[in-house]
Amino acid sequence: MDDILQVKNVTKYYSSGSVATKALNSISFSVRKGEFIAVMGASGSGKSTLLNVIAAIDKVSAGEIYVDGISLTEQKESTLSVVRRDKLGVVFQEYNLLDTLTVGENITLPLNLKHVGAAETQKELKRVADTLGIHDQLDKFPRELSAIITCPALVLADEPTGALDSKNAKLLMNCFEQMNQKLGSTILMVTHDPVIGSYADRILFLKDGNIWNELDRGGRERQELYRDI
Ligand code: ADP
Ligand code: MG
Repeated sequence: MDDILQVKNVTKYYSSGSVATKALNSISFSVRKGEFIAVMGASGSGKSTLLNVIAAIDKVSAGEIYVDGISLTEQKESTLSVVRRDKLGVVFQEYNLLDTLTVGENITLPLNLKHVGAAETQKELKRVADTLGIHDQLDKFPRELSAIITCPALVLADEPTGALDSKNAKLLMNCFEQMNQKLGSTILMVTHDPVIGSYADRILFLKDGNIWNELDRGGRERQELYRDI
């Protein structure tokens, strides 16, 4: 099975009082293992809703989502937690709680939460930092990198660079790129920034809850051109 993610006819309504908003309108797409995908679209087009239902943070109104072959729709909360823990790494713009930690501390946080010992944690941190070549960033790079340590099969990121200046945005994107190419993580990243979108192999464009276009960039011929803007 080469698909890490299958989204089949997913519809999502929000209802508040008597008003229902259709945030996703029967969306279908698949993501193969190892792809780097960007989801782009105007504000309100359904990008965050899509990520939230894939992250099992929110439930679909209709349709099916499979992460590594596991259907999210029929699972109990306990199974969903296991999927979140073992398959997914989630990076959100609003993850402010880790602001006071260094990059090294952010990266190792999931291990601390699992009560992994200090020596093993440092060993894992060194291994990840070696692979990604980010030793000199460990004490200063911003938050949001805790997804890295568990080498998740699927990284879900919602506007991950939204709160970063362009230098740190570039560092974060380089990190995602290394995770994708060296650790084999599949990346699904929401952005409204075309420069950030240019890191992806494939871009899905959302409009009013529909995928209205898809740009397949044919493997790794990314537009290096944009990198220094
Ligand atoms: P995007 O991330 O592309 O800006 P969202 O997925 O946040 O878009 O929103 C898609 C649509 O769903 C918008 O019309 C938005 O107003 C609506 N929406 C999002 N979250 C909620 C919510 N919790 N309750 C009601 N409507 C919502
Ligand atoms: Mg959003």
